[in-house]
Amino acid sequence: MNPLSPSSNPAPGATLEALETLIPGMPRMQPGEVWIVGAGPGDPGLLTLHALSALLQADVLVHDALIDARTLALAPPQAVRIFAGKRGGRPSTHQDEITATLVDQARRGFRVVRLKGGDPFIFGRGGEEVAALVEAGIRNRVIPGLTSGLAGLSAVGIPATCRGVNQALFLATGHGAGRRPTPEGIDWSLVARLGQPVVLYMALKNLPFILEGLGQGGMAPETPAAVVAWATTAQERVVVATLETLLDTLRREGLDAPAIIVLGEIVNCRNTLQRVVTQAMGEVSSP
Ligand code: SAH
Repeated sequence: MNPLSPSSNPAPGATLEALETLIPGMPRMQPGEVWIVGAGPGDPGLLTLHALSALLQADVLVHDALIDARTLALAPPQAVRIFAGKRGGRPSTHQDEITATLVDQARRGFRVVRLKGGDPFIFGRGGEEVAALVEAGIRNRVIPGLTSGLAGLSAVGIPATCRGVNQALFLATGHGAGRRPTPEGIDWSLVARLGQPVVLYMALKNLPFILEGLGQGGMAPETPAAVVAWATTAQERVVVATLETLLDTLRREGLDAPAIIVLGEIVNCRNTLQRVVTQAMGEVSSP
């Protein structure tokens, strides 16, 4: 059987009952409700149990691009799947259209799952969707997900916080960080002065501008940097460079979105951790 086909989900009902035995009181979706569900960074194994439960109950599944086919297959085969993807540079579904679909499907009495990558409230416009549902008087629930900026680092052995290395972490979007400063734009030189690691979502396009600002704010050229593309998926790739070499390294390696970029000493903690893991497995460690 094709492992990606919807029919590979043997018995949604039985799985749902098993979940409810494990977690008594687990909420059930009611007809006409919309659940805004975080799918995590990619690997279906990183879904939460609430996300799994929601998928098993869905009549309608409105999903982003980049959701793993095996995750989509967890919804019942008869569930209607509506693509609501937005990807930089490609034709995308307008946000108003997405919220209108959620409201419309809920008003028809369906159990609607709005499945979004990572966590719905991290750079995902989940807040706007919830606001529209509240405005329309539609019952809803938000199921948190693992955000790619944190899970994507852990998955490749970079600790987001490392004792003795950092006390904070700056999560930012690079989207809209164009050359011309906007009122809501980030002052990257100020961010550099925090002296804490910087984790960037959606930043490949504007990276030259961002790195320039960080450098101007005093971030050292030799600051370790890493890019994790397609974290926790079969296409996962990670490259390690420095603030100074990052752009050239990316050009050479040709990594594409989705990607998380991290700058800071925490990237070096990866080497230490990897050595420990390798030694524990009885293999020869690299110096
Ligand atoms: N709500 C999502 C983020 C949406 S913005 C979350 O919490 O993760 C989309 C951006 O997230 C992408 O441009 C990329 O920067 C990042 N992203 C999402 N999935 C990713 C993955 N599997 N690997 C690397 N980056 C990812």
